[in-house]
Amino acid sequence: MYCLGIESTAHTFGASVVTDKGEILSDVRDVYHSAPGTGIHPREAAEHHSEVAAQVVAGSLTKAGIRASELDGVAVALGPGLGPCLRVGATIARSIATYFHLPLLSVNHAIGHIEIGSLTTGAKDPLVVLVSGGHTAIAAFSGGQWRIFGETEDITLGNLYDMFAREIHLPSPAGPQIEKLADKSRNFVPLPYVVKGNDVSYSGLLTASLAKLRSGATLEDVCYSMQEVSCAMLAEATERSLAYTRKQEILLTGGVAANRTLQSKLSEVAGLHDAVCHTVAQTYTGDCGAQIAWTGMLALRAGETTSPDEARVKPRWRLEDARISWRNESS
Ligand code: AMP
Ligand code: MG
Repeated sequence: MYCLGIESTAHTFGASVVTDKGEILSDVRDVYHSAPGTGIHPREAAEHHSEVAAQVVAGSLTKAGIRASELDGVAVALGPGLGPCLRVGATIARSIATYFHLPLLSVNHAIGHIEIGSLTTGAKDPLVVLVSGGHTAIAAFSGGQWRIFGETEDITLGNLYDMFAREIHLPSPAGPQIEKLADKSRNFVPLPYVVKGNDVSYSGLLTASLAKLRSGATLEDVCYSMQEVSCAMLAEATERSLAYTRKQEILLTGGVAANRTLQSKLSEVAGLHDAVCHTVAQTYTGDCGAQIAWTGMLALRAGETTSPDEARVKPRWRLEDARISWRNESS
């Protein structure tokens, strides 16, 4: 069986074809880049997606070596994300499904990050640490749904890095730039560390990091300290969730999973609890069609299809509200 997956929730328009055996036959992407000093402009990003969509979808089928008529389903990320961007993917997926009489699969983008992580790392029943531009959440599967054990109370970890970079006009993508600058320092400047219960809060850390820069600290020292503090906060919240859920695996997924400081802190936490830390390979940390195609395949196999009339975008779709019928606690 073949499933085409379409991703268009934010900066990336991606399309991928996967098989029911979990083979990723193609994963084609085109990323919208905003000008330095600015964030994603939803309308411009949506225009970008419309311009590249046909080429990306066709490229993905060609790379997979199949024709659209050979597909068994079309999956699309209907949320969470930016409305104008989501509508591009939804329109294309509905059209392909209707024209070729294919089942349509509605995928929650965050679940996509979890399922591509599980597929590619072999994680079975992990405590998930999902860190991206749109999410900072600690989740575990329990009682038939994903449940949030901790999350950010304000901006995400990806936002922290991106907004800091934007303020000082660093080129995008911001995360890797900050990591590179941080590598050049081991001089810690004190910054606010805010963990509330099992939640983290990063907005004060952003303000304080920018203030340190203005008062004369070097960019390298601030990047190093901001990265240390932000990752340590999340590691503390993760450790508490791990102790509570007694999961034996951590799955680190989403764009910020590429960060080596975060990887090392979470590996340390896992080690303290005799657990294993799986980190998604860099190819699949960022947004991509493969995360949607594979989650769509799981939904297809479970008979969870959506009719094109009901496939409306859900910009604020939380991961704990997604219906998951293909997973059990120890799957
Ligand atoms: P996503 O929304 O899943 O595509 O993830 C994008 C986010 O990951 C952005 O906020 C990037 O700044 C961030 N990111 C990418 N690579 C790194 C890295 N090496 N360290 C920290 N953040 C990163
Ligand atoms: Mg994402």
